[in-house]
Amino acid sequence: MESIHSEILEDGTRLLTFDRPDSAANIFDAATLMELNGKLDAIENGTGGVIFISAKPAIFIAGADLRALETLNGDELRHFIELGQDTFNRIAKLRAPTVAAIHGACVGGGYELCLACQWRIATADRATKIGLPETQLGILPAWGGSTRLPRLIGVPGALEIILGGKTLAAKPALKRGLIDDIAPRELLLAAALKWINAPRPRRPRSQAIDRITAAVATPIARRRMEEKSRGHYPALPKALEAVTLGAVESTEDSLRRERLSVLELAATPECRNLIGVFQLQERAKKLRVPGVEKPMQISHAAVIGAGVMGAAIAQWLSARGLRVLMRDIDPERVGGGMSRIAALYASAVKARILDRTEARDGMDRISPTAAEPPLNGVDIVIEAAVEKMELKKRIFARLDEAAPQNTILATNTSALSITELGAAVSRPDRVVGIHFFNPVHRMPLVEVITGERTSAETAAAAVRFVQKIGKMPVLVRDSPGFLVNRILLPYMVEAAELFAQGAEASEVDAAMLDFGMPMGPLRLTDEVGLDVAEDVAATLAASFPNHMHVPAVLGRMLKAGMLGKKSGRGFYVHEKGKTTPNPDAARRRDAGAASTRDRLAMQRRMVLLMVNEAARCIEEKVVAEPADADFGMIMGAGFAPFRGGPLRYADTVGPGVITAALQEEAARCGARFAPCQLLQEMTHTNRRFYANP
Ligand code: NAD
Repeated sequence: MESIHSEILEDGTRLLTFDRPDSAANIFDAATLMELNGKLDAIENGTGGVIFISAKPAIFIAGADLRALETLNGDELRHFIELGQDTFNRIAKLRAPTVAAIHGACVGGGYELCLACQWRIATADRATKIGLPETQLGILPAWGGSTRLPRLIGVPGALEIILGGKTLAAKPALKRGLIDDIAPRELLLAAALKWINAPRPRRPRSQAIDRITAAVATPIARRRMEEKSRGHYPALPKALEAVTLGAVESTEDSLRRERLSVLELAATPECRNLIGVFQLQERAKKLRVPGVEKPMQISHAAVIGAGVMGAAIAQWLSARGLRVLMRDIDPERVGGGMSRIAALYASAVKARILDRTEARDGMDRISPTAAEPPLNGVDIVIEAAVEKMELKKRIFARLDEAAPQNTILATNTSALSITELGAAVSRPDRVVGIHFFNPVHRMPLVEVITGERTSAETAAAAVRFVQKIGKMPVLVRDSPGFLVNRILLPYMVEAAELFAQGAEASEVDAAMLDFGMPMGPLRLTDEVGLDVAEDVAATLAASFPNHMHVPAVLGRMLKAGMLGKKSGRGFYVHEKGKTTPNPDAARRRDAGAASTRDRLAMQRRMVLLMVNEAARCIEEKVVAEPADADFGMIMGAGFAPFRGGPLRYADTVGPGVITAALQEEAARCGARFAPCQLLQEMTHTNRRFYANP
C-alpha cells in the first residue's frame, strides 16, 4: 500500500499527498523515503510545479521513524541518514518550483522536507506546529535541517530553534521566517498553487553576513546552553557546531558534519534515555485500563473549590472545550477564582496559545457559583477544596446526594486516602483521585489514583478524561503521597537536613542542578511553601515512621514566619523578582552545624533517597512497572530526563552499587538510608529494574 499519492492537477502541477495507511500520522521510515524517491524519478526532469501536502487531519509529517534510532545498527543507521539527506537533496535540486503546503504537525524530518522546498505555506490551525525538536531527543536535525535552516533564517534564529528544540505555531513561524505565508485550511491548496508561480526565492543569504552573525551569536548561545544544560546534553554542543560552522561552509561539508554528528549522538546513553522518555509519553497517551472497552465519555465537569488549584483546573478544562461549574463557599472566593482564570486566559492569549475569541468562549463555558451547584448532567466532579479529610468527607457526602448515580466523584487531594474518602459515600466504586500538579497549565502529568473500591470503569473513564484534556496519566494505587510526592519528599527533607547541618542553600541546590534537576530542592521547597512541605512530610512520616521524618529546621523557620516564596522569605529571600540567600534562615540551623561544600556528597545523599523510595513504590506495587515510576518522576518532578528516571538511573549505576552506597550512608547518617527489601534482593540475585539495558 502506498503512503504517497501522486496526481497531476489541471494546470500541470504535481500534487504529492502523504497519507500513511492505517495510521493517524505520516512519518518517514526507509520505505516511505524509497517511495518518495520513486515519485521523484518521475518528476525530476519536468518543469511543472510540485506541491507536498498531507491528507491527515492533524499531521503534516511527524518526522523520522524513531524506531530506526533504536533498532538499526551503526551501518544501517548511516544508510538511513544518507537516504534522507539524498532524498531531500533531490528535492532541493528540482528545477521545478516546489511548495510545502503544511497543515498539522510538521516537525523534525517533516520540516526538513519543507526546508528543501522553495516555499512553505501553512494553515494557522491549532494543529499546525512547525520546528526541529531533535535536540530534545538527544540528536540534531541531520536531514539537512542544521544546514538549511541557518541559510534560510540566519544563524541566531536557527540556533534558537535548534538548540531550544522548538516547535512554533504558524504565526510565530511566519514572523521568524520558517514559513513564507499563512492560508486558511480550506484555501491551503489554492495558496500553494499561487506560490508555485511566485518568482524564485530571493538570492541565497550572504555568507559574509552569516560569518559575522555567527561570530556574534555563537558565544552567547554557547554560554546560555552551558548554563542551562551543565554539560549533560551532548546534542547541544554538536548542534551548535553544526549550525555555526555549517553556515559558513559548503552545503556538502555541512551535510557531512550533520551525518557524522547524528551517528555519534545516536550511540549515547543520553539519546537512548531521551527517546525512552518520548516513548513513555506516547505510552501514556495510549494508556488503557484492561477490561474496559468503552470508557464513559466526560464532557461536563464541576470543580469544587476556586482556590489555586480549583481555578486552574477549571480554566484548563474550559479551554479544552468542557463545560465547567465552579463552586466555592462565598462570592469573594468565587470572584477570586474567576480573576485567576481570567489572568490565565490573558497569559495564554499573550503567548499566542489561544486567540481572544477562544479565550472568551472558554471563559463563557465556566459557570461560577457560591451556592450548592445543580449537578444534573455533570459527568465528573473534581473536588479541590482545602486539604482536610473531615472537610472533604463532608463535601463528598453532599455530592453523593446531589449528583446523579453514575457521576464520578474525583478529588485533587495531594496525599489523603482515596479509599477512606470513598468510604464516606454510597458509591465508593465511582470515587477516584485525579491529582494535577501545580501550575496546572505547565505540568503535563496527572496521577489517576485508585482506591481499594474504585471500579475499573471509573479508573478507565478518569484515564480517558485526562488524555482528552491533553494531560498524561499515570495510574497509581492509593497509598500515602501517591507516587511523585512520595518520592520527592524524602529528597526535599534531606535537602533541608543538609542545610540544617551547615550547607549553604545555594550549594545544596547547585548539587542537584549539577545532577540535572531543573530546580534545586530548597528553591522548590520555597515555591511549594514550607508550611505545605511540613504538612506533607508529617503525613508521610506518620505512615512511614521508620524512614521518613519532619526536619526540625522547617518548624523553626515557620515559627519565624518564613513560609517560602509566598511570604517573601524561606531558604531564600524573594524580592523584586530576585532570589538571594536568606541569612535569617541560616540562623535557624541545628546547633553545632558545620559548613560543607562537598556537592558530590550532598548530591549522593539526596539522589539515593529518591532511588530508594522509587524502588519501594515498585516493591509495594504503588505503580505497576518501573517505567511508571520513572515517567512520573520525569513528567511530575522534572527528574533529569537524560538519566531516564530514578530507576533507569539505578540500573545504569547498578542496583548493587546503590544498595552498598545506601548502607554506607545508613551507617553514617541513620536508618532513613536503609536500602529497601527490593533493592537488597535485586543485589543478591543480580537483577535490574528493566529487562532492556
Ligand atoms: P486553596 O486554599 O488555594 O483553595 C482551596 C479553596 O477551597 C478555597 O478557596 C476554599 O474557600 C475552598 N473551599 C473550602 N471549603 C469548601 C467547600 N466546602 N466547598 C467549596 N469550596 C471550598 O488550596 P489549593 O492549593 O487550591 O489546594 C486545593 C486542593 O488541591 C488540596 O486538596 C491540595 O492538597 C491539592 N493540591 C494542591 C497543590 C498545590 O500546589 N497548591 C497541588 C496539587 C494538589
